[in-house]
Amino acid sequence: MDTAREKAVLDRTPKGLFIGGEWRDASSGTTFGIEDPATEQTLTEVANGTPADSIAALDACVQAQAEWAATPPRERGEILRRTFELMNDNADDLALLMTLEMGKPLAEAKGEVAYGAEFLRWFAEEAVRIDGRWSVNPNGSGRLLTMKQPVGPCLLITPWNFPIAMGTRKIGPAVAAGCTMVVKPAQQTPLSMLMLAQLMKDAGLPDGVLNVVTSTKASDVTGPLFEDPRLRKVSFTGSTPVGQKLMELASKHLLRASMELGGNAPYLVFGDADLEAAVDQAVIAKMRNIGESCVAANRFHVHESVADEFAARLAERLAAMKVGRGTEDGVEVGPLIDDTQRGKVAELVDDAVSKGAKVLTGGERVGDRGYFYAPTVLSGITDDATLLREEIFGPVAPVKTFSTDEEAVAAANDSEYGLVAYVFTADLNRAIRVTEGLEVGMVGLNRGLVSNPAAEFGGVKQSGFGREGGREGIEEYLYTKYVAVDV
Ligand code: NAP
Repeated sequence: MDTAREKAVLDRTPKGLFIGGEWRDASSGTTFGIEDPATEQTLTEVANGTPADSIAALDACVQAQAEWAATPPRERGEILRRTFELMNDNADDLALLMTLEMGKPLAEAKGEVAYGAEFLRWFAEEAVRIDGRWSVNPNGSGRLLTMKQPVGPCLLITPWNFPIAMGTRKIGPAVAAGCTMVVKPAQQTPLSMLMLAQLMKDAGLPDGVLNVVTSTKASDVTGPLFEDPRLRKVSFTGSTPVGQKLMELASKHLLRASMELGGNAPYLVFGDADLEAAVDQAVIAKMRNIGESCVAANRFHVHESVADEFAARLAERLAAMKVGRGTEDGVEVGPLIDDTQRGKVAELVDDAVSKGAKVLTGGERVGDRGYFYAPTVLSGITDDATLLREEIFGPVAPVKTFSTDEEAVAAANDSEYGLVAYVFTADLNRAIRVTEGLEVGMVGLNRGLVSNPAAEFGGVKQSGFGREGGREGIEEYLYTKYVAVDV
């Protein structure tokens, strides 16, 4: 552990609120601590924003909005492109900061910095492709012109599990579209976002376009923004219950809304699947981000002919993974975000075991410092196990069997969520039939990883609505204006 380097990275990270292009203290003058989940120690303190601060941030947005919307798309794109380059130049520091505040292994944090930066490159390229339509009225008299314009000041609320990428997925298209924004990062992991804001400033982003308000009182600082008619959009990534609350608030001024909410991904392995590939990809789909991902495989539905072998091989792989502080060499599994999350994971495992599941590996807390939980594989999952219905958000893989394709699809769809599903089969007809039957926004076909800035990410049912990335991502920040032209 190189504590001098950790200190240097923490020292260079801004700790204030970023409003109108300047770093400032909270109006209350107070700060709050950021904890390292691997050591339970406070890393540093950041400004504890107040409702007055978030209104000041919205004021800055409103002041900057008209000029920003009129800035040439190429210039907006170039700022994103320069930030993409700055993120890559600073990838080691950004990754270390993320590992310190969130716990994920350094290699994964580097992966997230690269993935997060790619959204900026992608939307740098999309900024110059905002277009409209020109057509002749079907009756020949008059012309129909449609144009796309920025929706205006946005509120972007992000979770702790991907502290950078969940931000750039929103900031990239908002900047490209010509919107200004207030970002409210998760209170447990604001540091990566603060460093990113400084990089965006360094890349030449005009004052007031991006504002960041950190706080321990999420609803207090965002509530007044929903009351303010100058706010035009909310984009939220987080849990379904909070998303539901925000939709109620958004109804007051009928805000445009994008909701990236919880998941409960089924991972289907059919009898004809390449089992080795299915196990390899399962390790990624389950263990990436310590299982704390909305697209984490939450439940493995495996054909009865291969279930025992699949579970045994997966258990062998997970048992061999090194658990520890993400900064240490070779660590593949970091701590969970806090003791509450670890307690929830332990409770779900205990519940499944009490109902008949068998622990093939793991099933226990690790160490006496930090929120570590052992990579766990459970077999013999019964229908009433709570973890089939709830998002586990931890390194636990429950394996359940099925006998027919219909049963597999019905089990996959038996959830209030509909974000992603994974399908492993060598049969093309089955792949298409099953994929078409799944009630989800995304499918990984013989792949355990779907996230890609060039593709549309998002869900159906209680996983929310709206898409981030791909062609559709920028549309969330644009509205269509139709002009009837008298010719
Ligand atoms: P969360 O508790 O819903 O929090 C998400 C964000 O909302 C945080 O910034 C949080 O601030 C803020 N927040 C909480 N309550 C609020 C309120 N009443 N009003 C306004 N803001 C509020 O979710 P989380 O535990 O951080 O993240 C995990 C969840 O995110 C999981 O369900 C996961 O599936 C989901 N997720 C979804 C996607 C996707 O793309 N679909 C991606 C990643 C994660 P504080 O930090 O201050 O509480």
